[in-house]
Amino acid sequence: MTEKKQIRVTVWNEYLDEQKAPVVSAVYPEGLHKAIADFLNQGSEISARTSIITDPEQGLTEDILANTDVLIWWGHCHHDDVQDHLAKRVVEHVQRGMGIVFLHSAHLSKPFKNLLGTSGCLGWREAGEKTRIWTASPNHPVAQGIPSQFLIEQEEMYSEPFGVPEPETTVFISWFEGGNVFRSGLAYQRDYGKIFYFQPGHEIYPTFFHPTVQKIIVNAVKWVNPVVRIKAHDCPCMEEALEKIGG
Ligand code: ZN
Repeated sequence: MTEKKQIRVTVWNEYLDEQKAPVVSAVYPEGLHKAIADFLNQGSEISARTSIITDPEQGLTEDILANTDVLIWWGHCHHDDVQDHLAKRVVEHVQRGMGIVFLHSAHLSKPFKNLLGTSGCLGWREAGEKTRIWTASPNHPVAQGIPSQFLIEQEEMYSEPFGVPEPETTVFISWFEGGNVFRSGLAYQRDYGKIFYFQPGHEIYPTFFHPTVQKIIVNAVKWVNPVVRIKAHDCPCMEEALEKIGG
């Protein structure tokens, strides 16, 4: 029996001073990226490693991306510090087939905005409020095994309007204790690549230890895992006609 190929995941995080602050390290002693990689590595189907903004080429070398099936992106205060040519490298890998999962505040990252072509803007409030996440598309692969709704006791509130193009599928919608609603799980495709955005994951709450959140991220990794990946976009391509034209 041939062994199924593992999905190679790289979890990228800024992991600068503010993410090592006591209020964060009390919840994620080794950083959010490590906590995410740890639960992904619990099963046999995924092999996850991490990279951070202080690594060579900001953790986004050609070698890392070429050997990554799915990139997970968590960023917050340092979106603008990601160098343009490295953000472009990520975008081009996605366009050629690499999957990408954007978590929480990654909605303002350069790769997110470049891939979707919109502002990524939204309303927010940091009040430690309850959020109830509703499964809006139970037949979507990312929703498999996820209940019709579940509660996270404390999260940062994100609110509509969310500056994104209409997704291919809105998989999850969130309600917040303060009254706001938000499209919190969105599925896109760009060229050969698949994209999933998932809202929960503020750095001072233990959201990434929530079993249902973990299951959603595992499902998202499996869904964006490339079916086809090309080495280069070979365009424009002159196409020979298959039939005689005008004859
Ligand atoms: Zn946040």
